Amino acid sequence: MLNVPSQSFPGPSSQQRAASGGRSKVPLKQGRSLMDWIRLTKSGKDLTGMQGRLIEVTEEELKKHNKKDDCWICIRGYVYNVSPYMEYHPGGEEELMRAAGADGTDLFDQVHRWVNYESMLKECLVGRMAVKLTALKGLLPKRPATDAPAMESPSSPSYDWFQTDSSVTIVIYTKQKDISLESIIIDHQDGSFRAETIMKDYSYLIHIGLSHEVQEDFSVRVVENVGKIEIILKKRENTSWKSLGHPLEMHLSFIPRKDRGLYYRKCQLVSKAVVTPDTRLFCVALPPCTHLQVQAGHHVYLKLTIAGTEIVKPYTPVSDSLVSEFKEPVLPNNKYIYFLIKIYPSGLFTPELDRLEIGDFVSVSSPEGSFKISKLQELEDLFLLAAGTGFTPMVKILNYALTNVPSLRKIKLMFFNKTEDDIIWRRQLEKLAFDNERFDVEFVLSAPALEWNGKRGHISPALLSEFLKRSLENSKVLLCICGPVPFTELGTGLLYDLNFSTDEIHSFTA
Ligand code: FAD
Ligand code: NAP
Repeated sequence: MLNVPSQSFPGPSSQQRAASGGRSKVPLKQGRSLMDWIRLTKSGKDLTGMQGRLIEVTEEELKKHNKKDDCWICIRGYVYNVSPYMEYHPGGEEELMRAAGADGTDLFDQVHRWVNYESMLKECLVGRMAVKLTALKGLLPKRPATDAPAMESPSSPSYDWFQTDSSVTIVIYTKQKDISLESIIIDHQDGSFRAETIMKDYSYLIHIGLSHEVQEDFSVRVVENVGKIEIILKKRENTSWKSLGHPLEMHLSFIPRKDRGLYYRKCQLVSKAVVTPDTRLFCVALPPCTHLQVQAGHHVYLKLTIAGTEIVKPYTPVSDSLVSEFKEPVLPNNKYIYFLIKIYPSGLFTPELDRLEIGDFVSVSSPEGSFKISKLQELEDLFLLAAGTGFTPMVKILNYALTNVPSLRKIKLMFFNKTEDDIIWRRQLEKLAFDNERFDVEFVLSAPALEWNGKRGHISPALLSEFLKRSLENSKVLLCICGPVPFTELGTGLLYDLNFSTDEIHSFTA
């Protein structure tokens, strides 16, 4: 609803935005960009009409403010007057009006729960909803916060801990089989220990203020067949612990992932390399006491404070290179995250990112995404359709498929770009195709130089029907598609026209 990449990006006047059925541009009102909004919020203008007063809002009162020029919306118990924001909303006024005079939390979560509306709309805050006792119930943690391993219902996870003279081991029993090192995210800072286990669409949180000090480094082990996770902490002093510690916020909560706020940690920029004229490979280091691994096809959110407002945008981590180049990683690969990011000179976030110097910090969220790695298992043909930085999810998928899916006969990438210079990792892709007979790559350019003798144009039925040939009739196939929203929408439609089923297609959208 607010500050949406899916809608705001490509920018309404960008080449990338197409109206359905064509590639026409939509004119954008001057002076209504996100940056203009930030400037307005800093101008000191009274945006709520309440002269800085905060009130308790009843449901009856909220309902009254349901018109464009008098529009209040409640998000997670806070009420905002969004009328001044209407013209700046990238998703349009109509989308905002769907929640006019009502609780817009669900609607907001469906579209982009990660957007930092508290920061974006802080000058529009009218007050809090008057709390009803029944409403309070949903805000309380699901189980009592206690240090002792709690009584668990059979399907929910549980934890236990034990110690030796030198270590403390926390064991999480997930009771799920498809658990991996990517299922657990650990942050340990200033005595606060936070371990979030992701199980399908659920999140289980252990959040404890540790009773004693531990060393910076810890290890994590996953026993996949029984779904057990072991976190081994090293004691600073060889004393016996009477308790693990005291419970912190939401300790032992087991809730849908979408209900858990995004957790950020500050990561340091380690390197930045030019990949194409406008794309960079950024490498950030996780804090020493963090365990976070991003699964293939999943993304994280990066957060920077721009002109005093926290701005958040999604990015898809990549490997530091493609498989053929991959020998010994230069840096241990579980402590660093790599991003291929295109810098848009008139964009809000990326120029700021590009201005970061080595050693500067950027906040990185826990991962999210709907791509299931199990989709790659026993696959015979994998087709990847990428446009521009839509290549990023394909990088880890490609690496994973080549290394871990022996049943795959063919992996084919069709990569759409404007010009030859825009092709990310072209040399690596060509080398990979040369070295590995299971992999083929085809480049398609929309604005090639005269001498280009490869494929030209945009994604089309003709290009696809020629490219998407199965290695065997009825082979098990998966198609992944990612790029500018209209590219992905058009391409997905074409795939259905070619009789691929929903199960066989994964479209990366916001
Ligand atoms: P924006 O401010 O959003 O602008 C982008 C472009 O649109 C600019 O050229 C700008 O001039 C134009 N524009 C914006 N607003 C207007 C306007 N009002 N009028 C006219 N033109 C306008 N990107 C990557 O590079 N790498 C990734 O790995 C990656 N992963 C992603 C994963 C997901 C799940 C999603 C949804 C997106 C991903 N993106 C990725 C895109 C990324 O999130 C940002 O959208 C992108 O970096 C642009 O951000 P920005 O703030 O710099 O640009
Ligand atoms: P770009 O360079 O502008 O475009 C790449 C290619 O796509 C160009 O050939 C372009 O043709 C073509 N294209 C654009 N719009 C099209 C349309 N409507 N129909 C057919 N072809 C079209 O791309 P970019 O700037 O790198 O942008 C990449 C996009 O991928 C961004 O929108 C980003 O948000 C998205 N992305 C999403 C994810 C995710 O997981 N959801 C991950 C990474 C990136 P023209 O020359 O005609 O424009």
